Amino acid sequence: MLFMRTPAGKECSYFYGDYYRGREFEECRLIDGGNGPRHWTPDLCNTCPVPGIQAANACPHLVLHPQIVKKFVLFGRRVNISAYCTKSNSDVAEPKVGCGQCHPLPSVFSLPDEEP
Ligand code: SF4
Repeated sequence: MLFMRTPAGKECSYFYGDYYRGREFEECRLIDGGNGPRHWTPDLCNTCPVPGIQAANACPHLVLHPQIVKKFVLFGRRVNISAYCTKSNSDVAEPKVGCGQCHPLPSVFSLPDEEP
């Protein structure tokens, strides 16, 4: 997986920038680059959670689904991420942690009544 530095200065495998010989081409290969209201613009990288997720969890079974949301006019657009695991075939509530099937948490993190 190739990571490039986003306009926000974070490493992201979905970002691609071509600056060779004066070119200024940038795209996000996770979010649609079309012209609709959900198209990608570089400012989305500022608050996007994907670089943090990729830094914390390199699981190859994790599939990220982006959604562009706009809560208030002042805050602009943001990226919300939902995640799915193709190995456990389940939604992943916390993408930075994963679904827990490949890498279960050590027993010190479970409550006494949860232990087998
Ligand atoms: S918007 Fe998110 S996923 Fe897309 S290039 Fe920027 S940081 Fe990466």
